[in-house]
Amino acid sequence: MNVLVINCGSSSLKFQLINSESEKVLAKGLCERIGIDGRLTYQPEGGDKAVSDKAMPTHTEAIQFVIDALTDAETGVVKSLDEIGAVGHRVVHGGEKFASSVVITDEVKAAIEECNDLAPLHNPANLIGINACEKLMPKTPMVAVFDTAFHQTMPEKAYMYGLPYEYYDKYKVRRYGFHGTSHSFVSKRAAELAGKPYEEMKTIVCHLGNGASICAVENGKSVDTSMGLTPLEGLVMGTRSGDIDPAILEFIAKKENLDITGLMNVLNKKSGVQGLSDGLSSDFRDLEEGANNGNKCAAIALSVFCYRVAKYVGSYVAAMNGVDMIAFTAGIGENSGTVRASVMEYLKYLGIGIDAEANAKRGEEIVISTPDSKVKVMVIPTNEELAIARETVALV
Ligand code: AMP
Repeated sequence: MNVLVINCGSSSLKFQLINSESEKVLAKGLCERIGIDGRLTYQPEGGDKAVSDKAMPTHTEAIQFVIDALTDAETGVVKSLDEIGAVGHRVVHGGEKFASSVVITDEVKAAIEECNDLAPLHNPANLIGINACEKLMPKTPMVAVFDTAFHQTMPEKAYMYGLPYEYYDKYKVRRYGFHGTSHSFVSKRAAELAGKPYEEMKTIVCHLGNGASICAVENGKSVDTSMGLTPLEGLVMGTRSGDIDPAILEFIAKKENLDITGLMNVLNKKSGVQGLSDGLSSDFRDLEEGANNGNKCAAIALSVFCYRVAKYVGSYVAAMNGVDMIAFTAGIGENSGTVRASVMEYLKYLGIGIDAEANAKRGEEIVISTPDSKVKVMVIPTNEELAIARETVALV
């Protein structure tokens, strides 16, 4: 079956058409600047990437262009919509309502809408994408795959905050965690590669991308993760602060005369390694180059990032009373040997040695710990689209 995987944002929409038998990407692309003017990037398997400006006042036009591109007589990869068996939608927040992926119905859409409060930037956009697809592909089954669902197995001690209980009771303020599709995909692959049953394995997945989170997966279940009610908590990220003393908010609000919107903007968009590097960049390639050329703030940003990752890994070893494998994934985790080496320096006490030659490789599935290490360390590239396609096929 061919599955169309859709990741819909407020003004952009990423798509991949995946054949579920071969697990090959038949075509992929991106619609950008929806509601502004509109641009489609489309690339069929083995073909050239084509970029074209197209008017996209709403997501419906964007999806129509995606369908047109996929079924185009020359560069398309299917003859008609009948060759697309299902659509898998990435949905960011499923709250406590969704502990797994679901076939989309009107009730499901209403429940996703009820979670809008928890992810005001993402869930409404995800719903717009679902509605646009339903309009243009009314006979095709649709599945919602949630970023939060995998973490619904966390125990109370991991998801409750030290706040008045009534905030949980009334507003469901708790840790939800994100990147669940990636953490689930990578931890399953970790067990396969270790040759151990998933249900008997303790894995720590470090998803280090522009957004970054760590997850402790014990016996096939997420038992703790670094992101919280929102994706702002935990690691220092590209532009997000991660954990800070909450009292800093009041202190900076007074000093800089900022209201809560202004403060949240700083924490989400002007902090992280971008802020720490004094505005140099949120991209680790620039930071590594900067640090190599003697830029002090770039070096500080990198060291703060790696130290925070190492602290979380250490705390999850404690949470699970051990670990079998530590897996690095996503843009930084897959590509930066420098970051991996620097994180692992802190974890020598676990009896881990790093193989410098293996660690210098980029973007491939590889063991980077030495054979005598007590804990295996691997790079496992994530593939959220493939994970969404698999979930979708399993449900339809
Ligand atoms: P993601 O959000 O998973 O797409 O990751 C994007 C981030 O990965 C970029 O912002 C970079 O910081 C990082 N990245 C990508 N390629 C490299 C590389 N070759 N070396 C270091 N960092 C990289």
